[in-house]
Amino acid sequence: MVRSSGSYYSALKRITRAANSAYGLRKTCNFIAKNSARAMKANGCRILSLNPRREYLISVGTYGLSDLYLKKGPLDARRSLPDILEGKAVYIADATRDDRVQHPEVALEQGISSILGVPILRMGEAIGEIRIYARERRQFSEAERNFLFSVADVCSVVFERAELQQSLDGDREARARQRRPSPVSAVPVPTLRPATFAHPSEEDFARLLDFYCIEWLYEPRSFALRWEGGKIAEMFTPDFYLPELDIYVELTTLKQNLITEKNRKLRQLRELYPEVNVRLLTKSDFHKLLAKYGYGPLGEAKVEGVDRVLYSHAQIQRRVRTLARRISRDYGDERLVLIGVLKGVLCFMADLMQHLSLPVTVDFMAVSHYGGDGQVVRITRDLDSSIAGKHVLMVEDIVDTGMTLNYILGHLSAHNPASLRVCTLLDKRARRLLDLPLDYVGFEIPDEFVVGYGLDYKGEYRNLPFIGVLKPGLVKNEEPR
Ligand code: 5GP
Repeated sequence: MVRSSGSYYSALKRITRAANSAYGLRKTCNFIAKNSARAMKANGCRILSLNPRREYLISVGTYGLSDLYLKKGPLDARRSLPDILEGKAVYIADATRDDRVQHPEVALEQGISSILGVPILRMGEAIGEIRIYARERRQFSEAERNFLFSVADVCSVVFERAELQQSLDGDREARARQRRPSPVSAVPVPTLRPATFAHPSEEDFARLLDFYCIEWLYEPRSFALRWEGGKIAEMFTPDFYLPELDIYVELTTLKQNLITEKNRKLRQLRELYPEVNVRLLTKSDFHKLLAKYGYGPLGEAKVEGVDRVLYSHAQIQRRVRTLARRISRDYGDERLVLIGVLKGVLCFMADLMQHLSLPVTVDFMAVSHYGGDGQVVRITRDLDSSIAGKHVLMVEDIVDTGMTLNYILGHLSAHNPASLRVCTLLDKRARRLLDLPLDYVGFEIPDEFVVGYGLDYKGEYRNLPFIGVLKPGLVKNEEPR
């Protein structure tokens, strides 16, 4: 099995040439996958990119793997070989028995035994993975590992080139996402659009989902529907999977005969896989669904003036749960007083307190705001109960210049709490004048005026379930709280 370094050298030569060619992302990655598998005398290879939120691995190039294997279901990055996320290589001797393999039954059906995976790194952090598959149980030599690490480095450059190309091509959505700060990591994760859509309406749908920050995976799973002589005779692959909502979505065209056929398949799918949530959607159906969450063209009456969604309802909920877990862990069994300043904090406070697993009491204050009339800031509503000797967590919707928070912290400290910390959902750091320590931060946001999830503009928009940016030019005078 050991090959001369010359054969790896010629494979690398072909791979780097393809990387430097004018091929598109998928074609380049398919070529790299094929040449890597052949150089290592393996049966298959797959190149995967982490999605921007580092939650799923998405196929961008493959060789030698069946459709059923490729569409075995969403590949959760944290469950699928977590060592890769740590930047380490992973070797699996027998994929059918290893609990690190997410779909061992499919590996068994496909006759896959050994797997070698290495991370694709950018600035030392994993942004994807390259995997080699072998039918027989085998080891991988040091030379093979080194070869695969070099190929992974080439893939990193290929990803970067594709991202640049996609943004040059005027992919507005991709650029908007690149500007958006990642709550998880400072390293820019690829914003590749890896899917080659079968139909333009699917691409429209993906853009619509992107616009509303709804996570999607394109055709991640095929469902076997009919078997003949032990072999699969019919399969169905829904167009999209939306992990946050846990639904598969199949888009329909307007042709009635296609709708009837799809309805038949969907009925079968529901019978065979009752745990799977699948929806057949026309465009107008989808708009109705979005309206339920407050987004989309039908929900737009409510969100007139909102330019784009910065964080969706699902993203906010996930972040709030993470913050609540951290706070619960940090305070252990202590009793905690949560203090909010009305009214912007109302949604955040309500959600946060429900996820805290320690005894809490809640109190509210209100403060006057700058009106240019020579008045100084004052407390218009003070606390109901004393905080002396108690652990206090100041809960804020947004910290902008930091002046309001500074004033409130000064007021609270004077009442001698046992401890005083700050938790803010949003941190508009770019505009900070007073640098106050923030103990828990939901999202760091750009210098733009945001509304929704409790935050208002002239008293409106507080009821939006997401956080959005107002259309430029609309904000004349930022009206707080
Ligand atoms: P400060 O500048 O004192 O840190 O923030 C004062 C207040 O201004 C915040 O508590 C909030 O009510 C308001 N504010 C600051 N930035 C924004 C924003 O982007 N949107 C909304 N709705 N209010 C904001």
